[in-house]
Amino acid sequence: MDDKTTSEELEKTTNGSPKPTSPNSDLKLDFASFWEYSSAPESSDHVEIKEEYGHFINGKFTDPAKGRTMTSINPATEKPLTKFAEGTSEDVDKAVKAARKAYEKTWSKLSGKERGKYIFRLARMIQERSRELAITESLDGGKPIRESRDVDIPLSAAYFFYYAGWADKLDYAFPGRKAEPLGVCGQIIPWNFPLLMLSWKIAPALACGNTVVLKPAESTPVTALKFAEICKDAGLPDGVVNIVTGAGQTGSEIVNHPDVDKIAFTGSTKVGKIIQKSLAGTDKKFTLELGGKGPNIVFEDAPIDQTVEGIVNAIFFNQGHVCCAGSRLFVQEGIADKLISKLKDRMETLIVGDPLDKNTDIGAINSQQQYKKINEYLEIGVDEGATMYQSSCKIPENGFFCRPTIFTNVGQSNRIVQEEIFGPVLTIQTFRTPDEAVEKANNTPYGLAGGVWTDKGSKIFNVGQQMRSGVVWSNTYNKFDPTSPFGGYKESGVGREGGLHGLYPYTKLS
Ligand code: NDP
Repeated sequence: MDDKTTSEELEKTTNGSPKPTSPNSDLKLDFASFWEYSSAPESSDHVEIKEEYGHFINGKFTDPAKGRTMTSINPATEKPLTKFAEGTSEDVDKAVKAARKAYEKTWSKLSGKERGKYIFRLARMIQERSRELAITESLDGGKPIRESRDVDIPLSAAYFFYYAGWADKLDYAFPGRKAEPLGVCGQIIPWNFPLLMLSWKIAPALACGNTVVLKPAESTPVTALKFAEICKDAGLPDGVVNIVTGAGQTGSEIVNHPDVDKIAFTGSTKVGKIIQKSLAGTDKKFTLELGGKGPNIVFEDAPIDQTVEGIVNAIFFNQGHVCCAGSRLFVQEGIADKLISKLKDRMETLIVGDPLDKNTDIGAINSQQQYKKINEYLEIGVDEGATMYQSSCKIPENGFFCRPTIFTNVGQSNRIVQEEIFGPVLTIQTFRTPDEAVEKANNTPYGLAGGVWTDKGSKIFNVGQQMRSGVVWSNTYNKFDPTSPFGGYKESGVGREGGLHGLYPYTKLS
């Protein structure tokens, strides 16, 4: 297509789908209407997902005490994937006892070097089984295979490698001080990055000499159970890692168990507050990694095409199920029209559909509950008077899918601007001066992450330093690295995970 094609000509070539109007429509991109990608599904034939899983306690898969099970479904097909155990207080108690015994008799007695060898082995085995784990993550959680294959699983291995390296170097991490483990750690993780969140939690805990009882989310338990198989195959001593599956009540049993020394939680601010209340007055240590409503600030001097890519990555990565997603876009007034027009064009090229298809950009919404919640927010946005724009892409008939969505004409007090939607939904506001951008960016109960886009290094430092966010990315977004600490201000939580900082919450220093 030559770039002088008029907008009328472009309209004629489309399949009748509504096209975005653009002030510079002669530059409009229009990939999707000229050709369609053939499907390129990743085969899942070689992946074995058992019909039913028990808890993993003391090195063995164990039936639930009360015999109750739950079902995990594939959100792209709405079909059941597997059954798994529903953990009760008896199961949690058994897991904590196994973890305590392993802590006292084995794990805390090993040298850092020996612990490191086991953790390196876990990392390598995640790499060896990476294809299987990536497919499982996409089947169970709905995320595109491109992301589970290229982000979730390699990063999970990287966190194990990184913390394996620290296991025999804790004396260097804390010079002049002695770092001792805490004991048994209870860890509760969400459904948006199941294996990656497990890695963020288990790798530093083991490196520091602790043992763990971990509960995955009820909608995505399978990769944690496959990780349990890996622990077994790696010969990890029994009881060092225990996985108890179930719903919120099972998580609460872990939080309130008297023999747990530390709680690490990632999830919603609502549940984080419940956990913090339960822990008040106890001597349990805790870290809480909670919600966010990340501001992504774009100045007039930003490289506009790269910025559009960054905005897409910030909000549409993992269907927007990202605590640090750049879900509030602030654009300097002078480039707002042009940027929004280019963003709409780019949204038209995004492919929503089968998570196992290698062409898919946006997979399935993780659960029916989350799908309902996102749709409620779309209605709220429209009722609040905002202007909604959705790409015209096809979406599958079955499964939970949501078109990439942006809202313009929004105000600071709109619920869609203030509340975490956790879906592929972006609000867009404008600003004139850096001070106004900072003021608006910080006007939120959250403070997890944000982005700044500009050509000027001084502006990055000036604005970045004023943003009340645990992480600020400049001219990029959603970049993660095991060496880098991550965590929030305000209602986004307490404590840091990752990097050297991620060792502190798992050690007693004397
Ligand atoms: P939750 O905070 O409810 O879930 C996170 C984890 O905590 C899950 O394993 C959950 O169990 C468990 N849990 C739930 N209730 C309790 C409790 N009382 N005590 C201990 N553990 C508990 O998140 P949801 O899955 O319900 O998602 C709701 C909203 O939270 C999302 O829409 C999103 O806005 C936000 N969220 C934020 C995340 C983040 O990374 N910041 C991650 C996930 C969600 P189970 O799910 O198995 O019932």
